[in-house]
This record gives sequence, structure tokens and C-alpha cells, in this order.
Amino acid sequence: MFTNKIKHFLIELKDDILDFVYPQSCPICQKPLGREETDICEDCWKTLAFLPAPFCPYCKSFLEDNHTLVEHLCPYLSKPEDRKILAVKSLGTFDDHYKKLIHRFKYDRKIPLGKRLAQCLGKVVAQDEDFTNCDLIIPVPLHRARHRERGFNQSEVLAEGVSQAIDLPLAKQILKRKKNTRDQTYLNAQQRTENVRDAFVVTQPEKINNKAVILIDDVITTGATLNECARMLEETGAKIIFAVTLAVVVE
Ligand SMILES: [Zn+2]
Ligand SMILES: [Zn+2]
Repeated sequence: MFTNKIKHFLIELKDDILDFVYPQSCPICQKPLGREETDICEDCWKTLAFLPAPFCPYCKSFLEDNHTLVEHLCPYLSKPEDRKILAVKSLGTFDDHYKKLIHRFKYDRKIPLGKRLAQCLGKVVAQDEDFTNCDLIIPVPLHRARHRERGFNQSEVLAEGVSQAIDLPLAKQILKRKKNTRDQTYLNAQQRTENVRDAFVVTQPEKINNKAVILIDDVITTGATLNECARMLEETGAKIIFAVTLAVVVE
């Protein structure tokens, strides 16, 4: 634990020195950043496209009003009860811009960029009453080993921003990842579902009993991870489950 702290301190120190010697460039247009700009240039920030409405995590169609949100019969699910997550809100689609931003936040450990994106995400979520009327925000957890390796959980950074924006309590300890699942990048939908099966455990079921919960992750692809989290939350008593991500992968 202690050696990991030193390791992350040294990595951050190295990053700071590199930023000083080689001024950073914008991850989107590659132009050097100005003195006032942190992690993305203001021109590119203005071009980021936001999604207009919440969508179904399975067929990814927009659910424009409360009626469609509740009544939506998803063509992608064989049984209506398989619909564990009612709707998802994301900032944008996982296009080249969001890909670069999320990569810089997650793998280059640019937490200030993550916080800025989280603030923006919070503003978008705050416009939707179905989300602001929930009880609790839960970030998708990393396995202990992965958390140690990366030094932070990107979903927690996002969840903190959303929690502040809509004034809902953040619960980091309720959902735990007990299986260190393999990277899903090259797995198909079915493999992803199998990969995350029984990967999570709810440690304090009494805290989610009959509650409306918002799950937070960085990206939704097939929805396998979020769905597995939602399955566990539902089994242990959660009443309604929504999800919020920075970006959504659309085919
Ligand atoms: Zn730029
Ligand atoms: Zn659907």
C-alpha cells in the first residue's frame, strides 16, 4: 500500500515535470495549450456535442419523455423484466473527440480534465427530473488490484461531479467488485456478459432497499457491466435504476 503511494507520487511528479518541460497539447486538435487552458483547448471544448435526451441502454433509442421512459418495450430484450436499467444519460457519443478526452483522463491520469467533464455531465443530468429525484449515486467500482494500479477510479471522479451538481449522496462502499475481470475491449457482447457475471457484490443492502439509484461509469458499450451491477442492486432491493456515463458507443 505504502509503496504504491510512493509509486503514484513519483508518477505524478514525473507528469508535472514533463508538463513543465514540454507544454501540453490539446488531445483533440494537438495545438499547444494556452496558459489558461487545462487539458483541452477552449475551441475544441466549444465543439463538443451533447446528447439531447436519455436513452435505452439496450437498443440505444432516445426516451424523450416520461411516458416512453416507463412504457418502452425494448426490441432487444426477450423478456421485459430483463430491463434492469430504465434509462441512461450520457454527455455524447464515443466519437473521436470523446475517445481522446476519455483516454487522456483515464490512462494519462488527467484528473482535472475528468473533473471538468464530470461538472459538465452533472449539468446535463441536472436537467432531468427523473434523475434528480433519485436517492443515491453509486460509481461502478474497480477491483482493488486495478484501483491500486491506476491510482484512482475514473467512475468515482465522475460520480463526485454529478453528486455535487444534483445534490444527491454518493455511496462508494455499497457496491464492490470481487472479481478482477479482464479488459473488455476485444470481447463481443456475449463474452462481455460472461466476463462480468457475478463480478460485483452489494455490501450494505439495507442502504439501497427500495431506493432509486444512479449508477455511474465512464463509457457504456454493450451495457454488460452496468447491467450486471444493476442486476445485483435489484436483487438486493433497489427499486429503480438509472445510469449515467460520459459517452455511449453506438454501432
Ligand atoms: Zn483543441
Ligand atoms: Zn430499448
